[in-house]
Amino acid sequence: MHEDIEKVLIDEEVIEKRLDIIADRILGEFRGSPFVVIVILKGALVFTADLLRRMPIPLEIECINVASYHGETKSSGRVDFLDAKLPLVKGRSVLLIDDILDTGRTLVAVEAKLREQGARIVKSCVLLSKDKERSAEVEADYVGFHIGNEFVVGYGLDYKGLYRNLPYVGILKEETVEASG
Ligand code: 5GP
Ligand code: MG
Repeated sequence: MHEDIEKVLIDEEVIEKRLDIIADRILGEFRGSPFVVIVILKGALVFTADLLRRMPIPLEIECINVASYHGETKSSGRVDFLDAKLPLVKGRSVLLIDDILDTGRTLVAVEAKLREQGARIVKSCVLLSKDKERSAEVEADYVGFHIGNEFVVGYGLDYKGLYRNLPYVGILKEETVEASG
């Protein structure tokens, strides 16, 4: 375990097994009809790469860049679209992938944007969903794991840009957050 990690919440093996199940569900639902996967950068990168390798079907991958945390451990309450151009989704089915559902603002903002751009179907998938009251009424269509209302890192999720490469989801030591804060 990394020295800055207090505890591992979800280990590699558990993540792998869960990904098999989610991939099967998504395949079952979209079977036959082409779709485009939209990855919300950067947090969903690791999750998406592992998930899509379980889906041996023709699909396109696009990325969008949004920011809501700005390097801190609390949401700023604002969702910024950082790309000059968004993926072309007019008339298409979209599978939107994010790392974690927290306040719900990101998913609401991105889904609304994709519909505004003419997406026909938008399904959403998150690795993690925090069990808490959301500022927007939203749930993902596919959820890897439900977790408590705590700040997590690893498997794509960062703290100040670090820890995304950890192969598990964990909680940082308090002194790590304090020392860098
Ligand atoms: P929401 O818009 O639902 O509040 O937040 C979603 C985004 O906030 C996620 O895509 C993720 O980037 C970030 N986020 C929310 N909770 C956590 C967390 O516990 N750890 C990390 N590293 N990022 C989080
Ligand atoms: Mg994110």
